[in-house]
Amino acid sequence: EAFNAAVAGAAALNAFIVTTPDHALAAADAVDERRAQGEALGVMGGVPIGMKDLFCTKGVQTTAASHILEGFIPQYESTVSSNLWAAGAGMLGKLNLDQFAMGSSNETSYFGNVSSPWRKDGTNAAMSPGGSSGGSAASVSARIAPAATGTDTGGSIRQPAAFAGICGIKPTYGRCSRWGVVAFASSLDQAGPMAHSVEDCAIMLGAMAGFDPKDATSLKMDVPDWEAALDADLKGKRIGIPREYRMEGTDQAILDSWEQGKAWLRDAGAEIVDISLPHTKYALPAYYIIAPAEASSNLARYDGVRYGLRDLPEGSGLQDMYAATRAAGFGDEVKRRVLIGTYVLSAGFYDAYYTQAQKIRALVAQDFAQAWAQCDAILAPTTPTASFPLGSLSDDPLTMYLNDVFAVPASLAGLPAMSVPCGVTSEGLPLGLQLVGKAFDEQGVLNAGLAIE
Ligand code: GLN
Repeated sequence: EAFNAAVAGAAALNAFIVTTPDHALAAADAVDERRAQGEALGVMGGVPIGMKDLFCTKGVQTTAASHILEGFIPQYESTVSSNLWAAGAGMLGKLNLDQFAMGSSNETSYFGNVSSPWRKDGTNAAMSPGGSSGGSAASVSARIAPAATGTDTGGSIRQPAAFAGICGIKPTYGRCSRWGVVAFASSLDQAGPMAHSVEDCAIMLGAMAGFDPKDATSLKMDVPDWEAALDADLKGKRIGIPREYRMEGTDQAILDSWEQGKAWLRDAGAEIVDISLPHTKYALPAYYIIAPAEASSNLARYDGVRYGLRDLPEGSGLQDMYAATRAAGFGDEVKRRVLIGTYVLSAGFYDAYYTQAQKIRALVAQDFAQAWAQCDAILAPTTPTASFPLGSLSDDPLTMYLNDVFAVPASLAGLPAMSVPCGVTSEGLPLGLQLVGKAFDEQGVLNAGLAIE
């Protein structure tokens, strides 16, 4: 019954592409069985989670919210999802997202946009849950699922977490295996948990992470017990406030939330220090060259032969099939990225765009490396604005891209970064603060998050 009520709630939000109640029930039954046998339940024992539909799940349709993958039923399980099942979790269903994780509002999904469960005070306009992990954010925020997986290439865990008033952490690049996760921009893609509390994120990240020989960029490092080491006492810690993140046009409510976050970190014993990340303003343009470049290469595999959709016009040849399948299968935003990506990688423009963007990426990483001489973690807003009404930015890609202006620097540098809820706007919409840590220091990020939560 509870499941059916949740399904009705989820249907109103359009958070799920498919539901898998049997999977969740089997995990619950396994708990009963283990209890009866006196066996340990696993850290996620019986917890029914939502799975972003970017993770391949054996025997369950996996679409990346794209028409081109409609009907694709993987023969294999992603490493992250299989780690979660091994820890006892079960799956409520596959969650809607921006198509191929490209977007910041959940409006690029082939299966229709997700709505946020939040409304502005006194209005009923449907708001964006953020993106690309919008189904994850909406289902957790609406308490349909206690937790969900997300992926973050340039903010897709943190921005929707902020919009939905929940927590979400992108770990250090390489902590979670990318094997079996539909690739967007491979040098940036990372999986992570989205949940109500820092503690739940710590537990779930522990279950998701770990070395995987099937991913060449997987970190060969033990997974620490982040939950056991959670500690909101920040005595002796220095938290950096990057001056470049004080951008013109940032909402007053966001600046107030940032001040509040600083005050709470100070109360927890931390010293607040001003720092500079001088190349911040170049991070977003560099991201929007590197991510589409990698995407254009990764998406070359969708050719009508290997996966999902095949459009074979009467009497046509192989080239026509490629063209017809890709024209019908990819959405507009995906096509935009493929065109940008192939352009910046083309022989005549490679040095002017792609090489320059890679240099900027190195400078952004160097900014952080230098900042660690002055601080242990960084506090900044997650987004420059709160959620916006669905439809209000869909014709304006550049403004849409600005959503991730505070999120992409940590992505380019591969650093762990988390969004925790901190206050609301004057219209009652949730806001998030972002904590960025040193490579491999998820603990520092989680502990500072705990002090704000
Ligand atoms: N919104 C950003 C983009 O559209 C980030 C997406 C993501 O992190 N997957 O590329």
